[in-house]
Amino acid sequence: MDDHELIAAARRAAENSYSPYSKVRVGAVVVSEDGQVFTGANVENASYGVTSCGETTAVATAASAGVRKIDTLAVACIDADDVDNAYPCGRCRQAMSEFDVDRVLVTAGEGTEVREHTLDELIPYRFKL
Ligand code: ZN
Repeated sequence: MDDHELIAAARRAAENSYSPYSKVRVGAVVVSEDGQVFTGANVENASYGVTSCGETTAVATAASAGVRKIDTLAVACIDADDVDNAYPCGRCRQAMSEFDVDRVLVTAGEGTEVREHTLDELIPYRFKL
């Protein structure tokens, strides 16, 4: 998958979001270092602490399938009006850190702007054991 296809897949994943509280649909696609593709969407809960972000859902799905190294994570927040409002939260950045994501693609709404970052740019002093 090229980056354009990854973003399109993240947008499609967002369509499966369960977000009755925030009304903010987020989809994510993970590509493992061996090219496997996994998707996730945010899944909210009336007990907010139980909510899972789209990025974390995609990372957990990949990890559950045996992935231990992620090449790329693409995230699309299709209800955000600006890319500045579509970035992964701190918890998701830490989840990505566990599987050493090489690059992160971020987009919002129906716009064509896609920003690319390294994980070090998004979480420079991450927690490690
Ligand atoms: Zn998050």
